[in-house]
Amino acid sequence: MDTAEIRSRFLNHFAAREHTVVPSASLIAPDPTLLLVNAGMVPFKPYFLGDLAPPWPRAASVQKVVRTVDIENVGRTTRHASFFQMCGNFSFGDYFKAEAIPFAFELLVDGFGFKPDDLWATVYLDDDEAEGIWRELLPAERIQRRDKEDNYWSMGVPGPCGPCSEIYFDRGPDHGRDGGPVADENRYLEVWNLVFMQFERGEGAGYDYPILRELPSRNIDTGMGLERMAVILQGVENVYEIDISRPVLDVASRLTGRRYGADPDSDVRLRVIADHSRTAAMLISDGITPSNEGRGYVLRRLLRRAVRDARLLGAREPVMERLFEVIGTAMGPIYPELVNDAETITRVAVAEEMAFAETLRTGTTIFDTAVRQVRATGATTLAGDEAFKLHDTYGFPIDLTLEMAAEAGLSVDEAGFRRLMERQRQTAKADRAARRIGNLDLSAFRPILAAAGPTTFTGYEELTRESS
Ligand code: ATP
Ligand code: MG
Ligand code: MG
Ligand code: MG
Repeated sequence: MDTAEIRSRFLNHFAAREHTVVPSASLIAPDPTLLLVNAGMVPFKPYFLGDLAPPWPRAASVQKVVRTVDIENVGRTTRHASFFQMCGNFSFGDYFKAEAIPFAFELLVDGFGFKPDDLWATVYLDDDEAEGIWRELLPAERIQRRDKEDNYWSMGVPGPCGPCSEIYFDRGPDHGRDGGPVADENRYLEVWNLVFMQFERGEGAGYDYPILRELPSRNIDTGMGLERMAVILQGVENVYEIDISRPVLDVASRLTGRRYGADPDSDVRLRVIADHSRTAAMLISDGITPSNEGRGYVLRRLLRRAVRDARLLGAREPVMERLFEVIGTAMGPIYPELVNDAETITRVAVAEEMAFAETLRTGTTIFDTAVRQVRATGATTLAGDEAFKLHDTYGFPIDLTLEMAAEAGLSVDEAGFRRLMERQRQTAKADRAARRIGNLDLSAFRPILAAAGPTTFTGYEELTRESS
């Protein structure tokens, strides 16, 4: 079953259950706390918080998502891509757990033909209610409880959050150990997360944050990974080999002269090239251009990693133009802008590739000199200010410095580097504050809403009356 079919079956399933189908929002987060949209619910955050009245009680979407936290996993696990598509159904104070769980189960079993025997579910530690609903559908031994790290979802920043229930597909004993998702997340592939959005969380690192309040209503937010479903339904090994990704992998293989499947280390790099170039194309098509800050830096880092991996595998010529061409062909049917704006999008990537070739040429000389100096003193660590200089003056991303240092048998004073970066970030932040760039944080209006109550906009009627 191709990705397009999975996508439309998902949307039809929820449209038939009174959900309004909403198109994907841009990858540029409408939310100042995030750089990029990292989940399907992000565009709906104000409805969960009660900052805006939801236009519909139920919605469904297939949202473009970029997760930079997964970049290190790309190419190494079977299930993490840096760009992916999250199929979601949402209830804004309408239905809750008792409907959300069966809705998902019915789609997997009736809509996609999954055998219930292959499915496992997890629930949050104290969520007896969700476990009770699952027991109607699955035997007790295939329902597991997990702690906050896996079964309590938030955007990773302050905002709506809540306990969740995840659905896993058993890929079979060839893929790992028995014992359910708690034992092995490679064998048991997480395909869908059902989040019971009930609370608002505050600031805090990792999973250590305060719960600020209960949300005004009990909501549902789910995310089904389109590419992971395709892995299962197409019987391939990983998310890079599905219908919309495989052609890109094949072009990466041709450009580097490496046969995919011949060598595990090269395969990782081929997957990184295919993954990162596609994410770059999606970011550029949403108007992001490479820079040294924020989203532009995410894009720059992805492009540079892809270019460097291609060179390391043996590519002699620039690779972006050919990669972007095949990405347009593979993804164009869903994202026509990739085809319509192909020339502009490709130009951005090619320019970055050329500039980086130059960076590599000059930077490598500086890097080699620094390495020689470190060795001459008998030390084994490249100083933080060297790494910072490489980054700041020669555009050498830190991960590139780390990778090249490791190849040269040296470590890097990363903490020293981070301190210098942080100092620079603070200066940039102060500059921005001085320029008073606005943002879309609606939370500042909440006290006003609480004090004055909602207002009705009468501008259309009154202006119409006046002018008629
Ligand atoms: P994992 O534990 O595998 O990293 P997750 O728990 O971080 O996944 P969620 O935040 O629950 O993922 O996202 C909802 C769904 O989106 C997941 O169930 C999965 O199907 C899909 N998904 C998450 N991360 C990725 C990724 N990097 N690439 C492809 N699909 C993903
Ligand atoms: Mg994850
Ligand atoms: Mg998970
Ligand atoms: Mg999850």
